[in-house]
Amino acid sequence: SLRMLLMKLDVPSSMRSGERNTRKIYDADTIRTAIDSGQLINYYQPKVRVDTGVIAGVEALVRWHHPVDGMVYPDQFIGVAEENGLIGRLTHTVLSRAFIQAKVWQQSGYELKVAVNVSMDNLTSLDFQDAVVRLAAEAEILPGKIVLEITESQLMGDVRVSLEILTRLRLKRFHLSIDDFGTGHSSLTQLRDIPFDELKIDQGFVHRASGDETLRAIYDASLALAKQLNMEAVAEGVEDREDWELLRQTGCDLAQGNFISRPMPAEALGEWMEKWHVRIEAESLVSPKAG
Ligand code: C2E
Ligand code: MG
Ligand code: MG
Ligand code: MG
Repeated sequence: SLRMLLMKLDVPSSMRSGERNTRKIYDADTIRTAIDSGQLINYYQPKVRVDTGVIAGVEALVRWHHPVDGMVYPDQFIGVAEENGLIGRLTHTVLSRAFIQAKVWQQSGYELKVAVNVSMDNLTSLDFQDAVVRLAAEAEILPGKIVLEITESQLMGDVRVSLEILTRLRLKRFHLSIDDFGTGHSSLTQLRDIPFDELKIDQGFVHRASGDETLRAIYDASLALAKQLNMEAVAEGVEDREDWELLRQTGCDLAQGNFISRPMPAEALGEWMEKWHVRIEAESLVSPKAG
């Protein structure tokens, strides 16, 4: 299994997570104020189909525009929010804005799926399910246009209540995605028990995988698992042309990463889309027939 492979290969955890270094960490009161005073905003990063270059959707990635410190990244406040009972309202804010934005894009003629990161701490009561359903209905967005991403590492352990809530959301046709796959050692039973739609191979196993046997083995195993379980495979952390070519050669479904675009404010997406279509042609990123 993939888990055995990971253990055998003994990949250092720094390499598995591929996280950037965190700088300043903020306290709970400051974060609460930031959420309640509207200092958090959503950035969006595109997910594109590897065979055609079609823009399939975007992932909402929260940012904090701190009045003094400037741009603050999620690694500097999500953990503290989770530990201090603030993740409920944080997720609510992100979801609500993402759904409204999805509606705006829809009205401009863009058919985009919108993904939001959900914390396991959001999945402790059925209220969460009700809130997601209500926010989607208010924004008039169909559940099939919404993807809820849960990191693999959070799926470990005794998570029966959470799995129950995820299952209910899946039955209502919301799409579910396993994030940062390869970093969490979740039990494969859990993958079987909830029908996930998407598997996101962690960026630590994507960038430079074509030139590194260890990374490549984990990338290949993750891709194979996604295919066998009928999930769409997304490669995260696609940073250069070489990474992109690996996805093409191996038949990965979707790609996300700085090679395609960094996360951007919602207003920048329209212009980026036009540039992307030009770039696909100019750089022959997809086979002519497919495009
Ligand atoms: P994630 O969901 O795995 O999101 C992908 C992260 O990788 C993002 O970092 C993105 O900016 C970064 N990334 C994208 N392409 C590349 C690339 O080519 N190379 C490299 N090195 N990095 C790339 P970001 O935005 O800092 O988010 C970090 C994590 O914070 C996310 O990881 C997610 O787990 C969490 N997060 C972000 N927004 C939210 C949120 O609204 N709620 C919750 N609960 N967690 C969030
Ligand atoms: Mg994510
Ligand atoms: Mg990820
Ligand atoms: Mg991550």
